[in-house]
Amino acid sequence: DPQLNPIYTFDTFIEGDCNRVARRAGKTVAEKPGANSFNPLVIYGGVGLGKTHLAQGIGNEVKRLHPNKVVLYVSSEKFINQFQDHSRNNAINDFIHFYQLIDVLIIDDVQFFARAEKSQDAFFAIFNHLHQSGKQLVLTSDKAPKDLDGLQERLLSRFRWGLSADLQMADYETRIEILEMKMKNDGLDMPREVVKYVAYNITTNVRELEGALISLLAQSSLNKREIDLELAKKVLRNFVKTSNKEITIEAIQKMVCEYFDVSYDKLLQKTRKREIVQARQITMYLAKSFTKNSLKTIGEHFGGRDHTTVIHSCQTVKDLMDTDTLFRENVMELTQKVQLASM
Ligand code: ADP
Ligand code: MG
Repeated sequence: DPQLNPIYTFDTFIEGDCNRVARRAGKTVAEKPGANSFNPLVIYGGVGLGKTHLAQGIGNEVKRLHPNKVVLYVSSEKFINQFQDHSRNNAINDFIHFYQLIDVLIIDDVQFFARAEKSQDAFFAIFNHLHQSGKQLVLTSDKAPKDLDGLQERLLSRFRWGLSADLQMADYETRIEILEMKMKNDGLDMPREVVKYVAYNITTNVRELEGALISLLAQSSLNKREIDLELAKKVLRNFVKTSNKEITIEAIQKMVCEYFDVSYDKLLQKTRKREIVQARQITMYLAKSFTKNSLKTIGEHFGGRDHTTVIHSCQTVKDLMDTDTLFRENVMELTQKVQLASM
């Protein structure tokens, strides 16, 4: 089937906190298509986080477990194009009939249905027919159904019949696993410290993580040199540069939260727990060092704290760095991370 790429499987889709619910629901759907409570299964998340991989993985798994089932994977753009072709040829009924014969219909990136009213009408008819016949629907989208603009409410309300599960960016450990798996599959090797370095610094999405690995390999063979930390730093500097984002307080907060595994809410709350207080102080210190925001603005980003709190935090961080080695290492690592992201 040209629609399904066999490289996208569950085996190659590493599980982590970032995707556990979606991945497991996908597995259930593939095992018992139509006969589960995740119908439709809606997988949503930002670009490069694995929506297409997981959606295709479900399709491939259904075909493996249920060879007689008719599986169709299609992007919403393609669906719309097909629909418009049929519409021009007065063959809308053929189009709908074709889709109604499918056992597992997977539609990728449904956000592109926005404002394509006629296509949505056709999709609505197909959805109802398949759902009533106990057939499985799997949809992906860049936003949660409740945040999708330009889609008919009757469609959105049906999306909520099943399960909506999100994909987040992989955490550090999962990023290491993903890199290791990709390297193993390609028969590659590189020093552990380089793997860690790449995993540590690429926090945007999995596609960029793969991109970094590919650039690294390309540079290594181009320059006929071994992959080491020095090369990795060089490559990643250019790599991060191309995405060229100015660092924001929010971005720094995100990095610190991920680094210390603290939730964003906790970071802002008025807790006295030492780890959280320190994480917050470090975040303020980094925000002061790497953004042009005033102390007042920085304070406002931490649940409306006073500028004197920010001054106090920056001083505390400097003091602690002199006396506490582990603390110092943490701050240094985070500094490096923020520096890379702001290049
Ligand atoms: P999206 O459709 O959300 O934009 P993709 O499914 O195209 O993202 O994923 C981007 C790349 O990242 C693909 O090469 C995919 O294989 C890889 N990827 C994403 N998540 C994972 C994961 N959990 N394990 C392994 N590879 C992943
Ligand atoms: Mg995709």
